[in-house]
Amino acid sequence: MADPRFETGRNPSAKELWEAERVLQLHPEQQRTHPSALSADPEKLLHINTYGCVPDFYVDQPFICRGCGKQEIWKARNQKWYYEEAKGHTDAKAVECNSCRTQKKSV
Ligand SMILES: [Zn+2]
Repeated sequence: MADPRFETGRNPSAKELWEAERVLQLHPEQQRTHPSALSADPEKLLHINTYGCVPDFYVDQPFICRGCGKQEIWKARNQKWYYEEAKGHTDAKAVECNSCRTQKKSV
């Protein structure tokens, strides 16, 4: 199994990217009710609670790979896994696409 920590939406379609970008512009209350939104489990976010900014839901995050400039989507479910199961820090964001990370690992 691939490490799902920063698994991102591989080769997202233009429609997926467009929708993800659109959702980011919405009011948080509208984001929360979007089909791609996942609610957060505060019980599992105690490790970042001290920073005072615990997310209460996740939405797909489009980003530009800093390695090759490709656009991908960091899926809500992967963010949830990363923050809640892998106990990642909220400052951590996906910055590289799958192929760039795979290349680094194999070096
Ligand atoms: Zn890349």
